Amino acid sequence: MRKISIVVPCYNEQETIYPFLEETQKIEQKLKKQLVFDYIFVNDGSKDDTLNVLREVASRFPNVHYLSFSRNFGKEAGLLAGLEAATGDFITVMDADLQDPPELLIDMYTKIQEGYDVVATRRADRKGEPVIRSFFSKMFYKIINAVSNTEMVDGVRDFRLMTRQVVDSILELEEVNRFSKGLFSWVGFDVTYISYENRERVAGETSWNFWSLLKYSMDGFINFSEAPLNLSMWAGGISFIASLLGIITIIIRKLTIGGSVSGWASLVCIILFIGGIQLLALGIIGKYVAKIFLETKKRPVYIIKEKK
Ligand code: UDP
Ligand code: MG
Repeated sequence: MRKISIVVPCYNEQETIYPFLEETQKIEQKLKKQLVFDYIFVNDGSKDDTLNVLREVASRFPNVHYLSFSRNFGKEAGLLAGLEAATGDFITVMDADLQDPPELLIDMYTKIQEGYDVVATRRADRKGEPVIRSFFSKMFYKIINAVSNTEMVDGVRDFRLMTRQVVDSILELEEVNRFSKGLFSWVGFDVTYISYENRERVAGETSWNFWSLLKYSMDGFINFSEAPLNLSMWAGGISFIASLLGIITIIIRKLTIGGSVSGWASLVCIILFIGGIQLLALGIIGKYVAKIFLETKKRPVYIIKEKK
């Protein structure tokens, strides 16, 4: 019989683990003639009682395993640790908060059997989300798809069912700065999407705020596009040409009309403008250099303190 590994990153999810398991075990029952289920919870340095809850469920159910990090390393690290530990023929990643409906697994498995390598999910709507957040999310997808070769589908979740082969390909990517949405898409394969209505968390709170999302989207740009670098190059090029035109104008004026140059106010503005562009360009380059710096250190993405 074939095995499905369910990877669940958890950060402060003490209230959601039981409801999550209950719901998913219902699906396990429905699929038990075709699939063996295996759960890998990753405790990402939670500050609440998540670890104890995980120890408890792991001792109650033989097919429930957990890894516990030495501190909070972020969801990306949790996903990676889970995928590395997963041994199934099929692997899925799910949030602990039941925002990824387990009942979809049945349809997803049907699609996998039809021959797809990946069955991904996307939210059909952004119900229950603040308007500004939806606006910025949409902008992010518009811009990143315009400037990056890796396609990122709007509203796509990390929740996806993948074959062993796909997960092995993802694990071959050794980068330390992991932007999973991009990596999942970058490896390619035959992907199909299932849409579903957005759900609220069963309990607990989202760990994202506006700034963390902004930072996350910047990571997306830096990791999957050279557009910011091109932008600063163009800004530099254009201001260089403009300054050449200015110099020529001044020389011609000096030779024809003559007289002293007036307008130091405009001069100050120009100096500030050019200085601003230079700092911006330096900042953008700095971002890429920082990523290179982190990559070259080759630090582990996570550290496991305890596991079962
Ligand atoms: N998560 C994690 N580490 C973190 C933040 C979040 O493992 O540093 C997990 C979290 O427990 C949940 C999933 O990632 O299972 C998605 O997080 P959340 O529900 O807060 O995000 P949202 O669904 O609001 O995008
Ligand atoms: Mg969530």
